[in-house]
Amino acid sequence: LDPSSDNLSPIERDIEKVLRPQEFEDFTGQEKILENLKIFVKAAKLRGEALDHVLLHGPPGLGKTTLSYIIANEMGVNIKVTSGPVLDKPGDLAGLLTNLETGDILFIDEIHRLSPLVEEYLYSAMEDFKIDIMLESGPNARSVQISLNPFTLVGATTRSGLLTAPLRARFGINSRLAYYDAKILTTIVLRSSEILKTPITDEGAYEIARRSRGTPRIANALLRRTRDFAQIKGTGSIDTEIARYALTALNVDEHGLDEMDNKILLAIIDKFKGGPVGLKTIATAVGEDDGTIEEVYEPFLIQEGYLMRTARGREVTEAAYKHLNRIKLGQTGK
Ligand code: ADP
Repeated sequence: LDPSSDNLSPIERDIEKVLRPQEFEDFTGQEKILENLKIFVKAAKLRGEALDHVLLHGPPGLGKTTLSYIIANEMGVNIKVTSGPVLDKPGDLAGLLTNLETGDILFIDEIHRLSPLVEEYLYSAMEDFKIDIMLESGPNARSVQISLNPFTLVGATTRSGLLTAPLRARFGINSRLAYYDAKILTTIVLRSSEILKTPITDEGAYEIARRSRGTPRIANALLRRTRDFAQIKGTGSIDTEIARYALTALNVDEHGLDEMDNKILLAIIDKFKGGPVGLKTIATAVGEDDGTIEEVYEPFLIQEGYLMRTARGREVTEAAYKHLNRIKLGQTGK
């Protein structure tokens, strides 16, 4: 259950599109952010201007891409979608920028992964809607300045800490998405089941919601898998019992932690006496990329009170020992 979108199959991508809210009204949760965005969009439309550049940050699967599409839809403009690692040459970016119409949105996912060269190029585009293009190379090389149509850059990042200060400063609107509570996720699961034409009880939806790591992408994925279990093992409709059955089969535990969450906590307890231990050491112990642990797993484990980030490294909490049925050894026992 990878909450990032990198490993989605084409079918899963299609389903995500179907389940993706199209308007502010369909988007549940993140109230404060939504409230502000609605005002900024309305004001920009009234003035007939492009919306200020928007930076969205937060863990994967919380709705950054969805919000970008909604903003474009509500502004009544086109959206072009790309990502930091894909844009490796300034020329690629120039191509995209010169094709934008007035007010259009350029969405750059994983904007913290832009190359420094491309990033620098973006500065003047964002600030003055101008870019310098090099014509020819070698002794005949010269640069010409091109004016762009005013546009809105929407940048998404899972690691806002990696963004350079000059880039960050060029976003007028800066929003951090938070994990969703179970109640709001229940609403999202109910909406998705309606779209997927899967009968579900409120309790069944809640069971899936509360075990989805606060993440709509995971809630939707668990809903689809649970639907399979309901069809094969049950009556086709989802209730608490079939939801519990499916979630257990999918290795999602009672508290909604998945296999990797538990593996991380167990490694810290069993191999490193509960910590403190460095991120890279944990990554090696569980066989997962350290960046993924930091961006995807840790924020949730910290929010749920199982893990602490200290100056000396990562440490598990009492709650983690209790959750995993481990006994914490006292100072003398260590
Ligand atoms: P991100 O870009 O942050 O990784 P996405 O915007 O791609 O996340 O969202 C992942 C999936 O979760 C999408 O299919 C979308 O339908 C669903 N989703 C995200 N946020 C919401 C929300 N607030 N309400 C309903 N569905 C949502």
